[in-house]
Amino acid sequence: MTQAPAKPMTATERAVAAWLDEIGVEYVVKPKLAVIVGGRRRRLSPDFVVPDERLVIEANGCFVHGCPECYGDRGLVHNRGRDDVRLAAFERAGYEVEVVWEHEVSGLTSAAARGRALSHASPARPRLLRRRRSQCAV
Ligand SMILES: [Zn+2]
Repeated sequence: MTQAPAKPMTATERAVAAWLDEIGVEYVVKPKLAVIVGGRRRRLSPDFVVPDERLVIEANGCFVHGCPECYGDRGLVHNRGRDDVRLAAFERAGYEVEVVWEHEVSGLTSAAARGRALSHASPARPRLLRRRRSQCAV
């Protein structure tokens, strides 16, 4: 059910896609989700949606999205506000939101190494891995 993205994936997006493929979770790339922003209906496209988990995954480049860990108050920090609006809109639409930062996966050359890096931290990731294990047990 993976759709072809309109633009080529970024390295961070490719890393997330490789990880989701590796753990066998079905996902959709940049679907248009109907959300409400500022009282208006809009369609926003998160980087990935895992429909079975109602999970949105955003794969963020550290400079472009003003990663606080890598750039502090430098980088394109003005994008943080826009990102916050997006993430809040996805949550209001009933999705859990997971952000994967470029620095979590950059420099890791194999899919396996990226998978190990991504499977730690943050609540949704262990849940995805548990889901895979339960599927394997069937
Ligand atoms: Zn970063």
